[in-house]
Amino acid sequence: MTKVNWTGFSKKSPQERIEHLKKNALLTSNHLQDLQANKLLGLETANQMAENVLGTFSLPFATAPDFLINDKDYLVPMVTEEPSVVAAASFAAKIIRRSGGFQTHVHDRKMIGQVALYDVPNVKMAEQKILDSSALLLSQANEAHPSIVKRGGGARDIRVEAKEEFLIIYLTVDTQEAMGANMVNTMMEALVPTLEELSEGQALMAILSNYATESLVTSECSIDLRFLSRNKEEAQNLARKMELASRLAQVDVYRASTHNKGIFNGIDAVVMATGNDWRAIEAGCHAYASRDGQYRGLSNWIFDEEAQVLKGSLTLPMPIATRGGSIGLNPTVKIAHDLLGQPQARELAAVIVSLGLAQNFAALKALTSTGIQAGHMKLQAKSLALLAGASDSEVGQVVSQLLEAKHLNQETAQAILHKLRNIKN
Ligand code: NDP
Repeated sequence: MTKVNWTGFSKKSPQERIEHLKKNALLTSNHLQDLQANKLLGLETANQMAENVLGTFSLPFATAPDFLINDKDYLVPMVTEEPSVVAAASFAAKIIRRSGGFQTHVHDRKMIGQVALYDVPNVKMAEQKILDSSALLLSQANEAHPSIVKRGGGARDIRVEAKEEFLIIYLTVDTQEAMGANMVNTMMEALVPTLEELSEGQALMAILSNYATESLVTSECSIDLRFLSRNKEEAQNLARKMELASRLAQVDVYRASTHNKGIFNGIDAVVMATGNDWRAIEAGCHAYASRDGQYRGLSNWIFDEEAQVLKGSLTLPMPIATRGGSIGLNPTVKIAHDLLGQPQARELAAVIVSLGLAQNFAALKALTSTGIQAGHMKLQAKSLALLAGASDSEVGQVVSQLLEAKHLNQETAQAILHKLRNIKN
C-alpha cells in the first residue's frame, strides 16, 4: 500500500477531510456516507443503552494520522473535547514514524474474576480443597458461559490467596474479542455455591477485577535525535531533559498524576471512539501505576547517548474489546473500527498503548522545551472566540487579536468580536 500523504490534513474542512479518506479508500462506502451525513447514535438505541435517557450527547470525533505500528499504517480515531490533544498525537506520530515507528508486544489477553470468601473456619484447609477442585471449578465456570468456549476462549486457571479475613479465589478467563465483564461475572457467580461448600465460608461478592494484569501490552519506540532538533547539542539536551522528566514522574506523585493524565488524553480518546469502557481501562491502569506501593509515571524514557537515540516505552493493562458492550450499537463507533481497519482486540490494544506513548512524548517534549502554554495559548484563544459567539469566518481574526491582547479572557474576546462586527456594519 502506498503511503497516504497527510500534509495539510489539519488545515482542511471536515468535508474535505472526509473526501481525503474517500480518495485514499480509507473507509468503506457505507461508513463514508454515515460520516458525511454525520449519522449519530439514534435516540431509540440510546434509550436502550442507559436509563432515564433525555437525549444524546456529542463530542468531537477526530483522527490522528501517521501512526506506524509494527510496520503497519494506522489512522487512529479519537473522541476528545480537549484542544491540542489530537494535534499533539499527530505531531508525535510523525516524528516517531521517521525513526521506524512503534514496536509492540501483547504479553497476554485474559481477564481475572474474583470471589471473596469470609468467615472461613479453616483457611489453610479451604485453600487446599479449592485448589484440589480446580478442574471441577474450571468446568463449572465454562458451563456457565458455554458460547465463549465454542469461540475458543473460556476459564483457564484458578489461584487462591488468603488476605486478612478473606480467602480470595481468582479465576483467569480467555474472553476472546470481548472485554468480558458480563461473562466473567456470570462465571464467578456460578462458582459461589461450590466455593462456599468447599470452604465452609460465606461469599461476600463475585465479580470481575479491572486490574487486568493478564492483559499487559507494551509499546516501544526509539527516536533518532536528528528528529528532536536539527541542532545536535539542543537535541541531546532535550533528550536528557525528557529522560529526567520521566524519572521525575517515577519519584514524585504530584508529577506522576499529571504525567499519566497526559497519557490518558490519548488513551481515553481512542478507547471512547472504539466504544470501550474507559472507566475500566483507567481503573486498571492507575492500579498498575501503583503496583509497587507508590503511584508512578506509567511510561519510561531513556536517552541512549551511545546510540544517540531517545528510547520510550509504555506498558499498560489493556483489556480492550472489539465485540460486546455498546460496540455494535453506535454508528460512530463502527466508523472508528473501520478507520482502524477492523483490528482484532490484541491489535487494537497495541494501537491504543502506542497512542498513549505518542501523547506522552509530545507532552514531555513541549514541557521540557517551549513549555506547555506556548502551544495552548492559541487553542485557548480559539475556545474563547467560540465561547464569545464568533462564527467560522470571524474566529481567525478574533484569535489573532486575542493573542496580542493584554488579558486573554472571555471579556476581551467579546469586546474584540463586538468591535469587529461594528466595523463591518
Ligand atoms: P457483553 O456482555 O456484550 O458480552 C460480549 C458478548 O459478545 C459475548 O458474550 C459473546 O456472546 C459476544 N461475542 C461475539 N463475538 C465474540 C468474540 N469474537 N469474542 C468474544 N465474544 C464475542 O460484553 P462484555 O461481557 O465484554 O462486558 C462488557 C460490558 O460490561 C461493557 O459495556 C462494560 O461497560 C460493562 N461492565 C463493566 C464492568 C467492569 O468493568 N467492572 C462491570 C459490569 C459491566 P455470544 O458468544 O453469546 O455470542
